[in-house]
Amino acid sequence: MYLSNALAINIANLYMKTFSALNLSPALLTALQQKGYTEPTPIQQQAIPPILEGRDLFGCAQTGTGKTAAFSLPILQRLEATHQPGQRTIKALILAPTRELALQIEENVQSYALHLSVRHAVIHGGVAQSPQVKQLRRGVDLLVATPGRLLDFVHQGLISLQHIRFFVLDEADKMLDMGFIRDIRKIIALLPTKRQSLFFSATTTKEIMSLANTILFCPETVSVTPVKETTDLIQQFVYYVPRENKRQLLEYILKQNDVGQALVFTRTKRGADKVVRALTSQGWKAAAIHGNKSQGARIRALEGFKNKALDVLVATDIASRGIDVENLSHVINYELPEVAETYVHRIGRTGRAGAQGIAVSFCTEDDVSYLKDIHQLTKTPMQEVVSHPYGF
Ligand code: AMP
Repeated sequence: MYLSNALAINIANLYMKTFSALNLSPALLTALQQKGYTEPTPIQQQAIPPILEGRDLFGCAQTGTGKTAAFSLPILQRLEATHQPGQRTIKALILAPTRELALQIEENVQSYALHLSVRHAVIHGGVAQSPQVKQLRRGVDLLVATPGRLLDFVHQGLISLQHIRFFVLDEADKMLDMGFIRDIRKIIALLPTKRQSLFFSATTTKEIMSLANTILFCPETVSVTPVKETTDLIQQFVYYVPRENKRQLLEYILKQNDVGQALVFTRTKRGADKVVRALTSQGWKAAAIHGNKSQGARIRALEGFKNKALDVLVATDIASRGIDVENLSHVINYELPEVAETYVHRIGRTGRAGAQGIAVSFCTEDDVSYLKDIHQLTKTPMQEVVSHPYGF
């Protein structure tokens, strides 16, 4: 007896969509099950097989696509397979542009490596170095790092990069935006030439491609949701509002029934603090995350938001890079960004992993040209909300 063609194709599709079809080890599959992942995202389907084969990879993907698991799962699997008892050396290095992103990657790695013997650690600036040094001394196989602290540790002789076999450059475009290019070049010069390199960026500008060419050898290229396309799962609304009515409008929107938690964006640190003050005075649980906050305060705010103790997190763009909160219902652009691509990054924080999301933008008379730029980039007009009490 044999299956009809259609049935056979359906079964094949089903099989192709599971993690086990990607040849991940039972220990990783158990961890993924515990994490609640049922099927791989497109970037995971495309990237995991070539990485397991040892190929270099150029991944065009932004946060929210599942790229962290796409690179960390196969690296963990390969580290575990070659693990030997004895002294540990750093064999995998993941570079991330910000502390928040580095911490988030480490958090993911920790949950995936739950049943492995691979040891991992994260180092980043802005905090005392001694706890990080202690952890390194205990022996680490996989290190997540921001460029500045990594070089600092290398110069102090605390870290050697000579045993690196896996190198990941995450959010390369942000690295360039943030002026890390010289640090990255220095780090690459310290890596063994025989290694596997994975390069991720949300954009593919000339600069990015030329940097990728200096790092990668014969890479496999995978690309998902280019930054120009705002995902269909996110509904986008615009409210025209005079500047002086913005705070009331914000509260009005937060009170609407379907707002679970909101990530609110401002352009400046002062603006973020002001919004938090206004909201807390009205009884909202809100906190700000920006560059002037201590590392402790930033982590507390992020944790509070993740475990739902906070209703609102107000962030500036730099501080929010890579912030990833599950089931975030609303992103609110209290101030529209000056750069249209930033809008796409901001709203990509909602509508993750198949969930529905809502992006709300406030537009004052000074913001009209920014709105135009955004429309030109995304090619999807936002729905205009006219019936609200705080308009012109
Ligand atoms: P990333 O793009 O790596 O920042 O991941 C975005 C979010 O998607 C994170 O919260 C991940 O935990 C989650 N995620 C990644 N892969 C999957 C998957 N296969 N199924 C469900 N959620 C996932």
